[in-house]
Amino acid sequence: MKIICVGRNYAEHARELNNEVPADPVLFMKPETALILPRQPFFYPDFSKDIHHEIELVVRINRLGKHIEPQFAHRYYNEVALGIDFTARDIQQQLKAKGLPWEKAKAFDGSACVGEWISVEKLGDIQNLNFYLTRNGEIVQSGNTSHMLFSVNHLISYISSFFTLKIGDLIFTGTPSGVGPVNINDTLEGYLEGRKNFSLRIK
Ligand code: MG
Repeated sequence: MKIICVGRNYAEHARELNNEVPADPVLFMKPETALILPRQPFFYPDFSKDIHHEIELVVRINRLGKHIEPQFAHRYYNEVALGIDFTARDIQQQLKAKGLPWEKAKAFDGSACVGEWISVEKLGDIQNLNFYLTRNGEIVQSGNTSHMLFSVNHLISYISSFFTLKIGDLIFTGTPSGVGPVNINDTLEGYLEGRKNFSLRIK
């Protein structure tokens, strides 16, 4: 299983980090060891002093595919969830400044959490989903999937032109604006279409 993440897929978030709005999807990956296991907390790593939350819609691939045409991409998933793409922002800024790869900032152990899987059939239009993240009960990030620069189906098509998608692969589709720091003892909760999708402690 691999985790493919999309960077800068919401224009406002690209701007808040002083990045250009990209002409093509920005992709990076996390290994399977990045995934937080069920009922486990996020353990704040000692190599960073600035871990940020990035709430994102996550799509789980349910068919093997390569060079998937956008019009057929919807056949390759039937469940979505919310997740957090945890980011060591301090490390990422250092790496970006040097033009180096992001893995140490993005792909470390525990850098991905995923909530409960919800069938797409239940949710309706996947490009019109409201979601938000609370930190200790206060909303810190909110978005709607209609604001994605590249739709889920476009992303699946684009990703599959580089990487074969396999059953169980996860796609983190990018974060809206409002990314910010987390602290030890915080509780983060993700809500999808008004329903709690996950709850996670920071330890
Ligand atoms: Mg992200």
